[in-house]
Amino acid sequence: MSKKTSKKPAVAYFCMEYGLSSDFKIYAGGLGILAGDYMKGAKDHGYPIVGVGIKWKQGYGDQMIDKDGRPFDAYHNYVYDFLKDTGVTVDVEIRRTTVKCKVWLVDCFGNAPLYLLDTDIPENADRWITGQLYGWFGEERIAQEMVLGIGGVRALRALGIDVDVYHFNEGHALFAGFELLREELKTLKKKKQKKPFKTALQRVREKVVFTTHTPVIQGNESHPIDRIMYMGANLDLSRKQLKKLGGEPFNMTVGALRMARKSNAVAQLHGETANKMWAHVKRRSEIVAITNGVHVPTWVDSAVLKAAKSRKKNALWDAHMANKKALVDFVKKRTRKQLDPEKLIIGFARRAVAYKRADLIFRKPEIIEPLLNSQKVQIIFSGKSHPLDDLGKELVANIVAMSKKYPKSVVFLENYDMTIGAALTRGADVWLNNPVRPKEASGTSGMKAAMNGVLNLSTLDGWWPEACQHGVNGWQFGDGFESDNQEEQDTHDLDALYKVLQEEVLPTFYDDKEKWQEMMKASINTTLEQFSVKRMLDEYYELLYPG
Ligand SMILES: *Cc1c(COP(=O)(O)O)cnc(C)c1O
Repeated sequence: MSKKTSKKPAVAYFCMEYGLSSDFKIYAGGLGILAGDYMKGAKDHGYPIVGVGIKWKQGYGDQMIDKDGRPFDAYHNYVYDFLKDTGVTVDVEIRRTTVKCKVWLVDCFGNAPLYLLDTDIPENADRWITGQLYGWFGEERIAQEMVLGIGGVRALRALGIDVDVYHFNEGHALFAGFELLREELKTLKKKKQKKPFKTALQRVREKVVFTTHTPVIQGNESHPIDRIMYMGANLDLSRKQLKKLGGEPFNMTVGALRMARKSNAVAQLHGETANKMWAHVKRRSEIVAITNGVHVPTWVDSAVLKAAKSRKKNALWDAHMANKKALVDFVKKRTRKQLDPEKLIIGFARRAVAYKRADLIFRKPEIIEPLLNSQKVQIIFSGKSHPLDDLGKELVANIVAMSKKYPKSVVFLENYDMTIGAALTRGADVWLNNPVRPKEASGTSGMKAAMNGVLNLSTLDGWWPEACQHGVNGWQFGDGFESDNQEEQDTHDLDALYKVLQEEVLPTFYDDKEKWQEMMKASINTTLEQFSVKRMLDEYYELLYPG
């Protein structure tokens, strides 16, 4: 591969989820949005990429709010008539039973076809493996990952697709590496090679790269080795070899770090964090930093981009107001609440997990309440919790309670999806983001906002330290402070948030629209190229894919 330097390597990209459009429900959140934007970018810029994923029957599920203000999950079976039948079916042995995986094609990406595996066919006794994305418990998760990884490699073989590089986006795809190992071992054993495992692993490593995501320990999946063996996911690997790769319990991220030739983190700060976090893992690949990017045509309003170049006095503000009014109408339609488009709107949409601190801004009512009651500050929230995460559900319920306590100025939009994401990152004035540094790996919603002239107000976490020019293209708060004491961390960040909000954001918004527009322009100009998926793909081909 390295000899053919003029030709771009052909990449097979493996991911559990793809966020391609709101009603194609095979995604849950940020990981899927990244994968979807990656495929769209591959098409736009002519990269030789093949995507491998799963056709989820019920997706991640819809999360609605009941009349008591608590979230509940609802599932529906989806049928998609635009999927092409490849005629290919591959077998994967799961729990000693042959499972047939049908291969569908999403062919709207031209040079970048996306293949989706599906177990929901009459030949299977268990048709539900590809039922719910991230659904259920350990065994089912492994079964799903076997379909993606083992089934995925077999599908590529059956389709006759040549691959130079196998890219595992997140540890979910690791079993693809086991299948590659099995293939290599088969050839080596035929040749009666000594120490076949060592050679096979070397050969597989030459072909595999890996993207690691969350720096939150619990977000890195692990399984007892017994369970992996019971499911048959180990293929030809012994217990001892499994332990050598992923430890005991078997950690999917650790396994992937060891199976890859090179790995990447998803922002520069995350590169530092990930290298520290996995420093204890011996014989692992190096982790370079390649910051995520977003697909500009999907997420950025072209009218705003055009207005940002215009010399007409209020062109940019007018273009933004059109999006803001559309957002206010959207909120009205969904919640019957009427926000005031002349007043500040803050957007906040994320997965409901503790470190993202969705409720932070409410924690000192004596400060925030007068601002909410006067509607000087209006906030629109959205976000789902994982269906099995009770703590996450509590967080959602808390925000819903706030929207009842401050009915004029706080809104919660149920069932966060790409439609809500797009409406918010276009129509809000300010994009609030207050994770506990350094737990946010990247955070692409802030990039979408920045490119639409929606000003980021964020702790220095994820991608934001790379872009932030305080008071020029948005604001930071907290100065990158980190403490192991949660209470100290929260108090520090909250005070900093209020200070910037009251002393900089509100005065600029209400008293200096000219400066606000200048900041919007700076926000767009400093992010549009640097955080586009094109730049990310170029870096993958420069730093990650070459052998
Ligand atoms: C952009 C987007 C994400 C990822 O954004 P984060 O900043 O990582 O939270 C997740 N979900 C949806 C629906 C999005 O549009």
